[in-house]
Amino acid sequence: MSSCHCQQPPFRFTDYDTRELGPDQHWGDVSLATCNHCQRVWLHYLIEAPHISRSGRWWRVLVPAAQISTITPQTARDFIQQQPAGFVGGSYFESCGMRITAPIHIY
Ligand SMILES: [Zn+2]
Repeated sequence: MSSCHCQQPPFRFTDYDTRELGPDQHWGDVSLATCNHCQRVWLHYLIEAPHISRSGRWWRVLVPAAQISTITPQTARDFIQQQPAGFVGGSYFESCGMRITAPIHIY
């Protein structure tokens, strides 16, 4: 797998064509971000509680092309938690992005 900056933090919003899928039942914001350079698709799950400081946190995993059409706000959380690796970041983790491996838990 060739390396692209979409696989190496920090991640820049401007490197992606992002499609918002909407919130899920846990108040997570789900979006799909296609890398402008390698066309890989990343699934993002963002949790923010504006009234709680340092609560912002996100998870991010690669979505195989064949599975992109199966991703919905309702399936996103389980999909991420089933992946072997991904990234987390946000003020809650005091990180702009760090690699994690299974088991992945969204909380
Ligand atoms: Zn890329």
